[in-house]
Amino acid sequence: MSDSTYKRLRAELRSIEAEGLYKRERLITSPQSGEIRVAHADGEATITNLCANNYLGLADHPEIIAAAKAALDDYGYGMASVRFICGTLDLHRQLERAIAEFLDMDDAILYAAAFDANGGVFEPLLTAEDAIISDSLNHASIIDGIRLCKARRFRFQNNDMDDLAAKLRQAAAGAPRSIIIATDGVFSMDGTLANLPELRRLADEFDALLLVDDCHATGILGPGGKGTAAHFGLRADIITGTLGKSLGGAAGGFTAAAQPAIDMLRQRSRPYLFSNALPPMLVGGALKALELCRAGDDRRATLRSHARHFRQGLSAAGFRLMAGEHPIIPVMLGEARSAQDLAARLFQLGVYVTGFSYPVVPRGQARIRVQMSAAHTTEQLDHAIAAFAQAGCELGIIS
Ligand SMILES: *Cc1c(COP(=O)(O)O)cnc(C)c1O
Repeated sequence: MSDSTYKRLRAELRSIEAEGLYKRERLITSPQSGEIRVAHADGEATITNLCANNYLGLADHPEIIAAAKAALDDYGYGMASVRFICGTLDLHRQLERAIAEFLDMDDAILYAAAFDANGGVFEPLLTAEDAIISDSLNHASIIDGIRLCKARRFRFQNNDMDDLAAKLRQAAAGAPRSIIIATDGVFSMDGTLANLPELRRLADEFDALLLVDDCHATGILGPGGKGTAAHFGLRADIITGTLGKSLGGAAGGFTAAAQPAIDMLRQRSRPYLFSNALPPMLVGGALKALELCRAGDDRRATLRSHARHFRQGLSAAGFRLMAGEHPIIPVMLGEARSAQDLAARLFQLGVYVTGFSYPVVPRGQARIRVQMSAAHTTEQLDHAIAAFAQAGCELGIIS
């Protein structure tokens, strides 16, 4: 019976492959860092890694590893429980309070991932009598979270504030009790920032809450790395974030907000209620990561200067980049095949990048998303720029 199902899946997989959209995973044999070891056909190679979200270079930091080990020794391997039954450690509350204080919010709530934070943030706060207005480029987890909520949904074109105002007027016409405007702080495939000053102004005008998913901004943007809202000198009402990028790169997510919102999430948020507590070692490691992040102005300065240097180098070589200043640097290549071929050639030249294509980005806008890390050295980046120039010429992408 199920034979027909497998037949259909195999055919679909073949067409994904034929379109050049098939994702293959490389095997890494070292810790995550500016340079990594990877397995390949005849052994291992050491290459410069330009595609991790390891912005502050903390993924292999010895103090974080030591803090994680200490928590492992003190609290054991796992909690074998969700938070509300018998899974809440003093350490969990310590991290939640530290995150809330860092982001200047009343409280924070931990999840196994930011995907879960976003998946579980809308449904407890809103019902069919409410409305959500969401940016068209928001992360998949926000889209899924909104799908799970009964509120009326509106989508505005990426960072188009006229469209947002129109959608807010449309939503307001239905006299919703509450409105949430949801946006990424930094759009992950473009490295562009949400227009938070205008988003804030419109949120206030329509008495809406502003939710910012700051996964690619926490630790990077704003004074002390407090994120996109801090960068613009304003407040978001709800911030969702990850422990899997700047803050150590392991796993875990959080939502930070005013007390009644967090209290309600603890009562009703399904990925929180029905999923295991974050393991002690991740919590201990994240506490140290947050401390290093707060004291990380030097790392942020390195990251900014790396981003400037790399953008200049690739532009001078003739590549088309999406403009910006974020350590996400999208090299625009058009067709999926072109991004894949360039990534493959760069790998041979000792540079690890990933081609992104549909459905992760729109069709015809395939790209290589380069990401800077404070763990990179200028020599590694210069080598990578030279490799891009060589591979780009060979493949006829630049002349
Ligand atoms: C990475 C990312 C997530 C998911 O984070 P995880 O903690 O890995 O689940 C959510 N939103 C955005 C914008 C992201 O970039």
